[in-house]
Amino acid sequence: LAERHATLIAEQRLTAAQIEQLKAAAIIAPEVADSMIENQIGQFPLPLGLSFNFLIDETSYVVPMVTEEPSVIAASSNAAKIVQANGGFTTTIQERAMIGQLIFTDVSDYEAAILLVQEKEAALIEIANAAQPSLVKRGGGLRRIETRIITDDDHQPAYFTVHLVVDVQEAMGANMMNTILEATATPLKEWLDSAVLMQILSNFADTSLVTATCRIEPHTLTTTRFEGEWLAKRIAEATRYAHLDPYRAATHNKGIMNGVDAVVLASGNDTRAIEAGAHAFAVRDGRYRGLSDWKVAENGDLVGQLTLPLPVGSVGGAISVLPLAQLTQQILGISTANKLARVIVSVGLAQNLAALKALVSEGIQKGHMSLQVKSLALSAGATESELPLVVAALLENKQLNLENAHTIIAQLRQ
Ligand code: NDP
Repeated sequence: LAERHATLIAEQRLTAAQIEQLKAAAIIAPEVADSMIENQIGQFPLPLGLSFNFLIDETSYVVPMVTEEPSVIAASSNAAKIVQANGGFTTTIQERAMIGQLIFTDVSDYEAAILLVQEKEAALIEIANAAQPSLVKRGGGLRRIETRIITDDDHQPAYFTVHLVVDVQEAMGANMMNTILEATATPLKEWLDSAVLMQILSNFADTSLVTATCRIEPHTLTTTRFEGEWLAKRIAEATRYAHLDPYRAATHNKGIMNGVDAVVLASGNDTRAIEAGAHAFAVRDGRYRGLSDWKVAENGDLVGQLTLPLPVGSVGGAISVLPLAQLTQQILGISTANKLARVIVSVGLAQNLAALKALVSEGIQKGHMSLQVKSLALSAGATESELPLVVAALLENKQLNLENAHTIIAQLRQ
């Protein structure tokens, strides 16, 4: 690390003072950080905040979120408060398992290959479980085997793929799964008399689906300017639109992931895995759609639902290494992967409700920019003592842009 810092100074990429700044930002022990990633030169702190009012399956949660975006936490707290007043979120988990793919080429008889895998199922389960004995001791292990014939663009069989569905217990399970896949690939290749293209887990984790639902009486949506029943209908219509237009669906889903990623990151889990799974799930029927669903029920209530693949862990990966991940787990007050997934999907639904409610009424800019204004003042160079004055002046003259922030700061300093 010292050598890397010296090189950065020698190559005039950073000054000695900036290196000190980097060092001061570090809270993970340097040797731990160095073992986590390659070419590590420092650490990159992001704000950690708390979202309130989450009543999920009759339990209240304070939710730690890591995000750089203003308004995300305020929005989720706000929407969670509305849901709380209506009885909170209800969640369900159908299954929690990880899928691993063994992809074979040069298979001459696909039907015979399917029969062979069925025949060898018990042997494969034995090999898989012997590769991860500690997982089996904890009650996990290979649960079932599925076969797929993957066709090409002309609908001709092109690959033979075997899915191993593994109960990974409290871990996210990527590394565990890859160990199991490597152990099973060789015997299976020999039995099939084919070649292995690769073996790797799938991030399209549709064996780890988690659903949150909520039911909202429309009058609880009413604001000083907008009537609840009108808002409920427009929220349902906005959802319908997001199911039809991928340009809108991408933004609709980004809003959901604002909350989801922030909790996933705070918990020390892998945000890329969750993002990849969510977007694959959004396009599962061939058309990229909004992930949530809001409908007005017969009695006029607004009913919301969100299902996401959430293969998160409570142990393993970076979770057990990052000191703050233990701390956020403590704030959240949960230690199981299932409960974490239930909280994450509820936050996603709350985030979506907040965004849709704003979008179909006063627009996103009003609330968003009033919270972004602090960041704007800071990026224009406002000092701590100047900050409240610059924020007030920006809000007063309503031109929330960097140029205006610079002008205000210059005037203050005259
Ligand atoms: P680990 O490799 O850390 O394995 C889980 C660890 O948790 C094991 O050491 C296991 O112990 C331990 N453990 C303790 N208690 C339990 C319990 N109750 N249930 C299960 N395990 C327990 O992590 P994962 O296999 O979860 O892999 C996650 C990591 O893999 C993430 O960092 C992710 O970024 C990365 N990754 C992701 C990929 C992807 O998404 N495509 C690809 C490759 C890696 P023991 O050893 O005794 O079993």
